[in-house]
Amino acid sequence: MLNIALDGPSGSGKSTVSDIVAERLNILHLNTGAIYRAIGYYFDSQNIDVRDKDLVISKLSDIHIEIKFLSGVQRIYLNNVDVSDNLYSMRISDICSISAAYIEVRELVAKIQREVADTYDVIMEGRDICSHVLPNAKYKFYLDASARNRAIRRINDSKNKDKLTIDDLERVTLQIEERDRRDMERDVCPLKKVDDAIYINCDELSANEVADIIVTTVLKEVL
Ligand code: C5P
Repeated sequence: MLNIALDGPSGSGKSTVSDIVAERLNILHLNTGAIYRAIGYYFDSQNIDVRDKDLVISKLSDIHIEIKFLSGVQRIYLNNVDVSDNLYSMRISDICSISAAYIEVRELVAKIQREVADTYDVIMEGRDICSHVLPNAKYKFYLDASARNRAIRRINDSKNKDKLTIDDLERVTLQIEERDRRDMERDVCPLKKVDDAIYINCDELSANEVADIIVTTVLKEVL
């Protein structure tokens, strides 16, 4: 199987870039953040405080996640309901990054991720794909960009469910920095660049230009 692992902080463009790469290489794109978001969504909908680690862990067996690719597009089913369109609010971003710090949650998600990688040619994007989920992936990349540029991107994002505007820039930047801290400083599978990943700073690059770098690197070896 062709496995491309792509990590980077929130809003670095991983998802858009992965869509382009997947289309060009005719492979699937697995957005792993959406799985963590679906789990956060579950806890929010059940009014469970995700800071209560023991409670979160005791409820994991009630969560059944299924991923389907409909015409190549990922959909996430939580207990048989398609929740894919309910996952992109700042509330869910915050909640899911707290539950994502628990090893038990990560093990549940890693199992789903590895099943996808074993079954399909895929570009998989997240935080710990290069370091933990697919450490043997042949192709590894790390996307980065400044917090401010990532906040601007979040505001312009078509999935922006909070209807954020440029007036929210300072607040969104701070929130992104806070989430970076949580993702990079957690004890379990923190976001970090592994030595054998290619680092790409996206501040001055379009999504197509970033995708070009990835596709060219892969094709150089495949052809
Ligand atoms: O990528 P996205 O912003 O949708 O991810 C939401 C949250 O899920 C991240 O802030 C992070 O806490 C968590 N996450 C993770 N590991 C991944 C993907 C996402 O911890 N592989």
